[in-house]
Amino acid sequence: MTDIRDTVILGSGCAGLTAAIYTGRAGLNPLVLEGHEPGGQLSITSLVENFPGWPEGVQGPDLIANMKKQAARFGATYELAHVVAADLSSNPIKIKTSTGEILTRTLIVASGASARWLGLPSEQALIGKGVSSCATCDGFFFRGKEIAVSGGGDSAMEEALFLTRFASKITLIHRRDEFRASKIMVDRVAAHPQIELRTNTVIEEVLGVEEGEVRGLKLRDVKTGAVSELAVSGLFLGIGHEPNAKMFAGQMDLDQDGYIKTVSNVLCTLNGKPIPGVFACGDVQDRRYRQAITAAGSGCMAALEAEKYLEEHGH
Ligand code: NAP
Repeated sequence: MTDIRDTVILGSGCAGLTAAIYTGRAGLNPLVLEGHEPGGQLSITSLVENFPGWPEGVQGPDLIANMKKQAARFGATYELAHVVAADLSSNPIKIKTSTGEILTRTLIVASGASARWLGLPSEQALIGKGVSSCATCDGFFFRGKEIAVSGGGDSAMEEALFLTRFASKITLIHRRDEFRASKIMVDRVAAHPQIELRTNTVIEEVLGVEEGEVRGLKLRDVKTGAVSELAVSGLFLGIGHEPNAKMFAGQMDLDQDGYIKTVSNVLCTLNGKPIPGVFACGDVQDRRYRQAITAAGSGCMAALEAEKYLEEHGH
């Protein structure tokens, strides 16, 4: 018979690993399913300057590696698997993963949010060949080149400004003429000599599929319908993130954009009522702050709630 675990944590980013440290120290031997993007978004970041306790900053991958080591010291184990389906109404909770089935008394969902893509076949074909969703990871490859950034929010502005360190020219393409980004960021972008703004414009195709590398974009002006080509060697997407909670649709309350709705910070609900033993933390339930430190904070809360739940149920 399959063993019943006390705690399974989905996701190995800042939230999941903090939950693993706390549940590990509580003697719950947490199993961490590392998910599609092991280490989460910090593992693809460079310098993190706002995580308290690191006066000179810390590299994102180092921070994650240390958290992983720290949780392992208290008994956390890791599996390179992701969740395919789950039955959250059963007791114990049943989880079907990419490698098997697991039974657990508590489940902590820390599956994060992944970068959003335009969804064009040509874009998908050229990911890693000039198309990227991570300026800090890939900006370096575009030294002295002309590139484009897509989006009109703070992420796109931040990416464009960051990429001016490498690229000779950046065209920021946005589908409307109003920006979601804060005024200060838009002003900085608009004033930057290396950045050109192209509003009311959509990307219809990324050119270069046959050559195996980005060589330009086919653009359409949404006001005039005019189609044009822009020669660039890279395209960075800064169009937001998708929470990784689709596998729980129908089993827990999600908001209109698919983020997990929680009560008392980390309790997952179905029709507004808490689901026994199921908790969520980090970016999958936080569309507002999305910071490493807030993810860590909610990971801690989820772990303490899981511990309390087990104690109250005699485990
Ligand atoms: P966001 O604010 O949701 O903006 C996403 C942008 O991408 C929007 O301009 C949207 O256009 C565009 N977009 C979405 N789907 C698209 C598609 N299929 N094709 C073309 N364009 C598309 O996301 P975000 O910029 O990632 O920011 C998320 C949150 O994090 C915000 O609260 C933001 O303030 C915060 N953040 C803050 C900072 C900072 O303060 N330094 C940095 C990064 C993020 P529309 O406007 O037309 O919908």
